Amino acid sequence: MRIGFIGLGAMGFPMARHLAREHEVVVWNRTAEKAERHAREHGSKLASELAATADTDVLITMLPTSREVDEIVDQLLPHVKPGTLWIDATSGDPNVSKLTAARLAEKGVAFVDAPVTGATVGAENATLTIMVGGSAADFERARDVLRLCGKTIIHAGETGAGHAIKVLTNSIMGATVWMTAECLLVAKRYGIDLKTALAITNAGSGRSNASENLLPMRLLEHKWPLVFKLAHHDKDIRIASSLAHAQHASTPMLALTQQLFTASLNELGEGADYIEVAKVIAAMNGTSWD
Ligand code: NDP
Repeated sequence: MRIGFIGLGAMGFPMARHLAREHEVVVWNRTAEKAERHAREHGSKLASELAATADTDVLITMLPTSREVDEIVDQLLPHVKPGTLWIDATSGDPNVSKLTAARLAEKGVAFVDAPVTGATVGAENATLTIMVGGSAADFERARDVLRLCGKTIIHAGETGAGHAIKVLTNSIMGATVWMTAECLLVAKRYGIDLKTALAITNAGSGRSNASENLLPMRLLEHKWPLVFKLAHHDKDIRIASSLAHAQHASTPMLALTQQLFTASLNELGEGADYIEVAKVIAAMNGTSWD
């Protein structure tokens, strides 16, 4: 199979590497050096220009938001071939995805939204969970490709359903990270050793991915790697809030989480990692985790 892959960022780069083990993968990236390195090191083919990615059976986009995907669709629309499957692995906006699917359908191109979860480590190890929105037939076609990047691939529903559940599940994670960090800060202030507080949390009902994996390294070892941009997490929670709004759902926790993450992004800036919201919680309390 010939696959065009657009967007070799933290997630896209390793995903395209796995695909290149079995398929002919044509890579394009805005910053060309990354695509050149991919071709050099991982046996993919460097697209001479963006349009060259369209001469393929499958196109994959892995970009920050639906806005960038839309820009790429605009540019590729004159070049796409009928019968192509477009897989958008971006954590995007389901409403935009439906419009994109309709635009591509006019050209005979099928579209699925297929965002991923599992972080950069999941992309590196091909253990991602991938949630797909689209028809059953297109899901089967997409699964045949995506199985090289992920371990669990689930059909979420019709077009947009993958993007919808992705932003909702990330909102759950955001609220959990925030609440866990808040309660750990109170424990510390009360005089309980942070390591002990985490050990008890992880042996009890407050246990989560945040308490087991995400927070200990940051709070105990003071290592704050950039693995998932806060800007991307904020974008996901804002999309989730807009879904709730559109459905007239009463979701005060979601609204509060969105406000806290947007405030944190404004405070920390575009370069921050999402777990750095814990620093904002500390600052709100006139302290730090050091
Ligand atoms: P990165 O910021 O690392 O990569 C973004 C990619 O998009 C880069 O290849 C970048 O190109 C490209 N890009 C940005 N703007 C444009 C543009 N205007 N036109 C064309 N290309 C553009 O992001 P991630 O890989 O971390 O995230 C990608 C998606 O995956 C996001 O939707 C994110 O929410 C989601 N996600 C991320 C996870 C993570 O842990 N990082 C986990 C799960 C999902 P360039 O190299 O030139 O900057």
